[in-house]
Amino acid sequence: MQSPLRIVIVGGGTAGWMTAAAFASVLAPGRQQIRLIESSEIGIVGVGEATLPHIRFFNRRIGIDERELMAKTQATFKLGIEFVDWARIGDSYIHPFGAYGSRIAGVPFHHYWLRQRAAGDTSDIAEYSLPIVASRANRFALPSEDPKDVMSTFGYAFQFDASLYARYLRSFSEARGVRRTDAKIVDVKLRGEDGWVESLKLDSGELVTGDLFIDCSGFRGLLIEQALKTGYDEWTQWLPCDRAMAVPCENSGPLTPYTRATAREAGWQWRIPLQHRMGNGYVYGSNFISDDEAATKLLSRLEGKALATPRPLRFTTGRRKKTWNRNVVAIGLAGGFLEPLESTSIYLIQIAITTLADYLTARAIDEHEFDPRTVAAYNRWMDMEYERVRDFLVLHYHATERDDAPIWNYCRNMRIPDSLAHKMELFRARAHVISYKDGLFLEPSWLAVYFGQRVIPQDYDLRADAMEPVEAEMQLGRIREKIQGAVGRMPSHEDFLRHYCPASEPTEAGSNA
Ligand SMILES: Cc1cc2nc3c(=O)[nH]c(=O)nc-3n(C[C@H](O)[C@H](O)[C@H](O)COP(=O)(O)OP(=O)(O)OC[C@H]3O[C@@H](n4cnc5c(N)ncnc54)[C@H](O)[C@@H]3O)c2cc1C
Repeated sequence: MQSPLRIVIVGGGTAGWMTAAAFASVLAPGRQQIRLIESSEIGIVGVGEATLPHIRFFNRRIGIDERELMAKTQATFKLGIEFVDWARIGDSYIHPFGAYGSRIAGVPFHHYWLRQRAAGDTSDIAEYSLPIVASRANRFALPSEDPKDVMSTFGYAFQFDASLYARYLRSFSEARGVRRTDAKIVDVKLRGEDGWVESLKLDSGELVTGDLFIDCSGFRGLLIEQALKTGYDEWTQWLPCDRAMAVPCENSGPLTPYTRATAREAGWQWRIPLQHRMGNGYVYGSNFISDDEAATKLLSRLEGKALATPRPLRFTTGRRKKTWNRNVVAIGLAGGFLEPLESTSIYLIQIAITTLADYLTARAIDEHEFDPRTVAAYNRWMDMEYERVRDFLVLHYHATERDDAPIWNYCRNMRIPDSLAHKMELFRARAHVISYKDGLFLEPSWLAVYFGQRVIPQDYDLRADAMEPVEAEMQLGRIREKIQGAVGRMPSHEDFLRHYCPASEPTEAGSNA
């Protein structure tokens, strides 16, 4: 019988513990040994509080109880992200987790809305999205599973304390056999013949050997970069923010079921309400503002009393040239980082884990050899995921009319990736949203940001003209009424939280954002 695959996970942040928890739950039992090494002396990044709906599927797949998790991580519900002052100062739109209207005769709803608008209708596209209307009213209820019910037209994510999530996953993983070691890795030994990682030397003197190493060591990329020199594709020419200040503050006012991102003079500010406090941060470009000024601006704009001093973070936007190199797979910040504007990092961690878990059941892996075709396919997949997210983020920065600060002048005039330019051209010409089967961000997300950033199409799908204007007006009115009615019956977000998942434990320091 073959010996078990020895998987060594380096790092115990969100990425490390998500990997450990998933592998311990979904891989074939007895076929691998999982060991995780983390250094409490080094610590974790600890920010990362806003998520995407996909995290629910991840949690469900590995067998986590949602209510328990939410209660233990001080979580609130998230129906989308509000963008304030992005296209023009004074603008506000929500990128919702859900559809706008529904297809009519196979034609996406927004074409009918555009047609009616051209004929004088003044309704806002936001009125056709249940999660937007619910967000504006601070209400929440779980979606329905009946596809005929308007309550089935949305999804939700969480806003939670990422440090508590990692802690939760640690107990979950240890209960499923993951062996944890608190130690600092001081040396990485490569195998002579092929340069694969052979062993890690701990500060205790122990040598840890393994077959597959998962690098979740954060920005430093201990194995993937420091040991294997894989290289990094930098994308700061499109996403010029390279720093953040993070600070929690006391909650004030009702808990909103959405995250807010407000465009500022040198970047943007996040606001993420959790049950016990608010996470805040200023993401900015160091070419446009100093660290001290960013901290001062952030503190002056908090809605409640600051609970700590602002914590600085530095990053380089981009991704590793290969996230799987030899016998090392980099997941989380070690694999790459795209700024948190659309809360995509935890999603990228999740997709790396689930894709890798699928490969780990392949025969090639059972033989402890990694087929180069498998590795290449994995890397292509992850490249595609990063590029999809990149284009979507760049759209927010580029499609702005703001000319009040150097960062916005730069972004408005910058040359954008060809893949994004093509998408925008098609939308401007005839309101067409390029759809793809894999990767993040479906049609409603692109619509939200196009319309929100004032990218206005010149035309719509001519098939929308087939419907009589009076009939179209009636249909649109009916959708608005259904949404209003459903939202009117939802409890307030806070009442729902109190009943569904009140925070179960007093919190210690937790994360700093
Ligand atoms: C400003 C900012 C805001 C963010 N906001 C969001 C958000 O809203 N939503 C979202 O999804 N994501 C967000 N993220 C990303 C999110 O924080 C990360 O994806 C997540 O925390 C994962 O981090 P990690 O586990 O890769 O790295 P880390 O948290 O840095 O963990 C690294 C681990 O490696 C260990 N380690 C390192 N070196 C050694 C060594 N020599 N020996 C032993 N152990 C070692 C450390 O001890 C630690 O356990 C944000 C990131 C930043 C910077």
